[in-house]
Amino acid sequence: MAETERSIFSRIIAGEIPADVVYDSERLIAFRDIAPKAPVHLLVVPKTEQYRDVVELAAGDPELLAELVATAKRLADEHGDGDFRLIFNTGERAGQTVFHVHAHVLSAPAGSPGLE
Ligand code: 5GP
Repeated sequence: MAETERSIFSRIIAGEIPADVVYDSERLIAFRDIAPKAPVHLLVVPKTEQYRDVVELAAGDPELLAELVATAKRLADEHGDGDFRLIFNTGERAGQTVFHVHAHVLSAPAGSPGLE
């Protein structure tokens, strides 16, 4: 893929752009969203740029999708109270701005009022 076509998340994965990384494994990375919409707002991102959105990921690599969901739960346990909202914006008109599949994990710390 040409340099100009690489996603912002591929550049974070390559270490070219700084990010507050909270999880890093063979196939996934997670970091704090730069514009948080909740007390805990993490992005869980497959390292491959092969899939534009969750529909493509589910069809192409369902095991990786399952690993992503399990990782979201683990991160919600570690950073929030274990309850979480898992959001995959899919398509421009649904608010997707980065076409490199990623999940938003929204959560809140134990003892806080929780998510709105
Ligand atoms: P989408 O709108 O595609 O579902 O989500 C993209 C998310 O990526 C947005 O919530 C946006 O705040 C976040 N984002 C965009 N650029 C960066 C960046 O350079 N660093 C981090 N940490 N998050 C980013």
